[in-house]
Amino acid sequence: MNSIDRLNKLRDAVPSNIKIVAVSKTKPAASIELLYSKSGQRIFGENKVQELEAKHEILPTDIEWHFIGHLQTNKIKYIAPFVSLIQSVDSFRLLREINKEALKQNRIIPCLLQFYIASEEAKYGFSLEEAFLMLDNNLFHELSNISIKGVMGMATYTNDKQQIRTEFKTLLGYFELIKSRYFAQENDFCEISMGMTDDYLIAIEEGSTIVRIGSGIFGER
Ligand SMILES: *Cc1c(COP(=O)(O)O)cnc(C)c1O
Repeated sequence: MNSIDRLNKLRDAVPSNIKIVAVSKTKPAASIELLYSKSGQRIFGENKVQELEAKHEILPTDIEWHFIGHLQTNKIKYIAPFVSLIQSVDSFRLLREINKEALKQNRIIPCLLQFYIASEEAKYGFSLEEAFLMLDNNLFHELSNISIKGVMGMATYTNDKQQIRTEFKTLLGYFELIKSRYFAQENDFCEISMGMTDDYLIAIEEGSTIVRIGSGIFGER
């Protein structure tokens, strides 16, 4: 099967109200262009600033680029002019810097708060306590050029489906708690980005609104 067939199959398996981010990291621009022109795919995800910048420069301007990797503050400026959603906001400091760069671009940058839900050392993200500290801080409410659309998380890389399910349930719980405490009046706080190639079906069962699929579309990296 090629990437077009894999994407079509995936669309059959994913309810139409759930957004599919085609994670194109490490894949050439031509592979993105193919899905863009032949499958009408518009949302692509990248995890490296330089790679995203280079692809953005040569690909159609109506692609919605989602940034899904760890973002260093000194690199925000390169994607601030065009990024559609930064899914991987993992600190208050980063969010304040995104706000600064968004202000310079005279735009509001949509963001998700990334939560740490896995039992692995390496994964980035807020704990619930850290998120509360930020959301309770008056300075947070002065950030006029970012818009928090929801949460994102990655489950542990494991074959234990029950563990993965438990971690997604945790993320859904965080979403609901934060929504009721801080965003109850904001319909825009509605996204739960969870689920990748190996676990997206579980994620959808647990309430995902955005799945991020790389190898399941483009093939192995
Ligand atoms: C690479 C990546 C994905 C996609 O992973 P696949 O297993 O290839 O679907 C999703 N989310 C993030 C944050 C990633 O870095």
